[in-house]
Amino acid sequence: MKIDLHSHTWYSDGQLSPQELIMRAHNMQLDALAITDHDTVAAIDEAEAYQQTQSRPLNIIPGIELSTGWHGFDIHILGLNIDRTDPVFQTRLAQQAAARQERAQCIADKLAKCGLDDVYETALRYAGKGQITRAHFARVMVEKGHVHNFDAAFKKYLGKGKRAHVAPKWISIEQAIEWIHDAGGTAVLAHPGHYDLSGKWLRRLIVFFKQSGGDGMEVCHPHLPPDRQRQMATYAQGYDLLASAGSDFHAPGRWTELGRHLRIPEHLTPVWQHWGSDNTTISDNNNKKESLS
Ligand code: AMP
Ligand code: MN
Ligand code: MN
Ligand code: MN
Repeated sequence: MKIDLHSHTWYSDGQLSPQELIMRAHNMQLDALAITDHDTVAAIDEAEAYQQTQSRPLNIIPGIELSTGWHGFDIHILGLNIDRTDPVFQTRLAQQAAARQERAQCIADKLAKCGLDDVYETALRYAGKGQITRAHFARVMVEKGHVHNFDAAFKKYLGKGKRAHVAPKWISIEQAIEWIHDAGGTAVLAHPGHYDLSGKWLRRLIVFFKQSGGDGMEVCHPHLPPDRQRQMATYAQGYDLLASAGSDFHAPGRWTELGRHLRIPEHLTPVWQHWGSDNTTISDNNNKKESLS
């Protein structure tokens, strides 16, 4: 089974349409793909509709990546195998969308004060019907020549403590877990190796996540050196969390690819293990029920 449980479309800061993402998943011979856009599930209907037209099977796992705030850090929580049609969940997501719009306007004001008043309108246009993210601002800043590259946009303007940084009003980790559980999903701590946290704070985060009812953590994600990967596996086992793996695919490029280098160590329990019962089986394009295990 080739499985990737973390990916983005142009409904947040991914570059591909849902259809293109599914096409790519087929090209990469994936058996299952979770679509986990930032704070939105808008891509999933289109992805599933496109999959219906395909003969090759692919389990599309409806997901989301919720933005949360914890001690001033942006922490991302994946909701996997969620019921995206749940009306309560949809109302809750509207709250995150409003927080995104409000923050984007504040970022625009700060950028304008730095003399960059030609960024916001284009960033909004690029975001289109999807959620606007700092990545949209960064892309425009590169295109207009305000910074040399994407990373510089964060280092100079958009990152924490920089000139156009705006403290986001994200929900808490506990709320994110509650929202995901209420929508029938599995809550997974995203890319734990990517936060700017010391070892002590990372352990504190994982303990807090677990105590708040979190179910699993990513033990495989891109750009994680082998020793760090082993460390994440040790944490998953030690804190009794299910193991997940995802590419966090945003766009075709040299460094990331769907389904690449994602291997969950055999001694860990994969997050899909308990998706076997009736309400959590995943339908393939022929509407035939199929368990992932
Ligand atoms: P947001 O969720 O609106 O805060 O936007 C953050 C997104 O920008 C992340 O999901 C990343 O995909 C992308 N990004 C790229 N480079 C960076 C960086 N250096 N710092 C933070 N986010 C980055
Ligand atoms: Mn992103
Ligand atoms: Mn993330
Ligand atoms: Mn992501």
